[in-house]
Amino acid sequence: MKKITIIIPAYNEEEALPYLYERLEKLMKEIQNYEFEVLFVDDGSKDKTLEIIKEMREYDKRINYVTFSRNFGKEIAMLAGLDYATGDAVIFMDADLQDPPELIPELIQYWEQGYDDVYAKRSSRKGETWLKKFTSKMYYKVLQSLTRIEIQKDTGDFRLLDKRCVNALRKLRESQRCSKSMFSWIGYKKKEVMYERDPRIAGKTKWNYKKLIDLAIDGITSFTTSPLRISTYLAIPTFLVLFIYFIYVIVKCITQNVAIQAFQATILLILFFSGIQILLFGIVGEYLGRIFNETKNRPLYFVDEYNGKKEMNE
Ligand code: UDP
Ligand code: MG
Repeated sequence: MKKITIIIPAYNEEEALPYLYERLEKLMKEIQNYEFEVLFVDDGSKDKTLEIIKEMREYDKRINYVTFSRNFGKEIAMLAGLDYATGDAVIFMDADLQDPPELIPELIQYWEQGYDDVYAKRSSRKGETWLKKFTSKMYYKVLQSLTRIEIQKDTGDFRLLDKRCVNALRKLRESQRCSKSMFSWIGYKKKEVMYERDPRIAGKTKWNYKKLIDLAIDGITSFTTSPLRISTYLAIPTFLVLFIYFIYVIVKCITQNVAIQAFQATILLILFFSGIQILLFGIVGEYLGRIFNETKNRPLYFVDEYNGKKEMNE
């Protein structure tokens, strides 16, 4: 029997957990032909979250938990979930029931058809402000324009991942994580499933705009070094303006037979030196980008298939 691990990062979710368990339990009863593990990652909750999880574990041995010494954030909690998961596949789910467990059979169905990463795409986002929707839309646009790896739009972390995706993700051990871009980066066969995102069942959202902006910046900077190119791109028009102005001044001096004026020389000098400075910044940026990519220590590729013994499913 195949085993599926449902990974649930939880931070101060005491209010939502009872509802979550009820829905999950019902679902696990319905799906007979799989073994389930529910792996909670308690991200340093300050309320009764851990107590409740332990209580649940008392009468349901399918529940396991990992706890953190402090709040490390959802991204790190997800990685811990991957590290401790024992299933043949994992499913990431939020604790607040925004990701409906009822979608799980469909995710499993596509997994059985051979897809490695079955991700849930939201067709609606109930209970979210237009500002959050708008900013997230713009963010995807910007991120996608910066990279050639395809980014999945309107997709959260709610997804099923085959064991080999899990193994791949375990190897990406950078500290500033952006799971969303990592799911894209590792590749493998992907399948989209549509769903309606519900409002949070109880408790408050742990996100605020600062966290979101941090996540957005982490996402862009951990995924691409394109912003470091800005200097290089700025240097080109600066030198172009310098060149045109230089020609103009020289031609004017010759045709009108006058010496170069002080202000003209000043403008030329400013353009020249600022151009050089921007250019040097750009060069530093280019090297910094390379060092940055190397220090991430990512493996260079993952084997999809290989005609010998299949060794990916450890
Ligand atoms: N979460 C976490 N650590 C944090 C913040 C959030 O593990 O520091 C968990 C939280 O318990 C929930 C999920 O991440 O299961 C999503 O959080 P939330 O619902 O607050 O975010 P939103 O859905 O509003 O984006
Ligand atoms: Mg939520």
